[in-house]
Amino acid sequence: MAKKIVAGNWKMNTLKEDAQKLASEVVNMTKDEVPSDVTLIMCTPFIHLSQVKSLVGSSSNVFVGAQNCYTKTSGAYTGETAAPMLKSYGIDYVILGHSERREYFKESNQELAEKVDIVLANDMLPIFCCGEVLDEREANKQEEIVGSQLEESLFHLSAEDFSKVVIAYEPVWAIGTGKTASSEQAQEMHAFIRGLVEKKYGTEVAAETSILYGGSCKPSNAEELFACPDVDGGLIGGASLKSRDFIDIAKSY
Ligand code: PEP
Repeated sequence: MAKKIVAGNWKMNTLKEDAQKLASEVVNMTKDEVPSDVTLIMCTPFIHLSQVKSLVGSSSNVFVGAQNCYTKTSGAYTGETAAPMLKSYGIDYVILGHSERREYFKESNQELAEKVDIVLANDMLPIFCCGEVLDEREANKQEEIVGSQLEESLFHLSAEDFSKVVIAYEPVWAIGTGKTASSEQAQEMHAFIRGLVEKKYGTEVAAETSILYGGSCKPSNAEELFACPDVDGGLIGGASLKSRDFIDIAKSY
């Protein structure tokens, strides 16, 4: 069975005190309200990682993730953050290939393959984002686009390494727009993704791969989305900035 995961992508939001408050609320509410088989991940801006990691402490189902890392391990790359640095702060997950990174920072599938490798080499787990933009959906090219994102960034991995990857399917037209994919559209793409994984790595790895849905997921639609057989959880943007909403989403299985 794939792990149930609800990951929050805080993006470039929160000041120091906001981050402290939000993370503490999530940790406390999780203890009281969220079943222990649901994994919660807070993917915070780099600058808050250490603080949030300390607040999370030794919780067994709350983890901390970064939103990106660089392709090199150290050196003269001003402004970048390396995977070994994240690891040294006890960071567990790294989001890679978010559509905002692909669009604004021109991250390619090839560069993302290198980032996936470096995250795995440093014993952290990638949350790999894939998804089509609106024009591609309208041209019915979503499978072709997502298929090549997986093929070019992930399918060079051994089965052992691939089994550490979390996939997040995020139709770009649904991110931050309030326009959620219908549960049918989500299920269709998740089943397609699981089918590709099965073809490449076999039934067992495919069944154990967590495939999260992302794109305007909120407490009011999470239950319907998470009820789809191939939706194992969510990558949550806006709603992860409100502890009540984030926790209610995590309780939606
Ligand atoms: C995201 O950015 O990964 C995301 C899913 O955002 P939102 O939930 O705000 O659509």
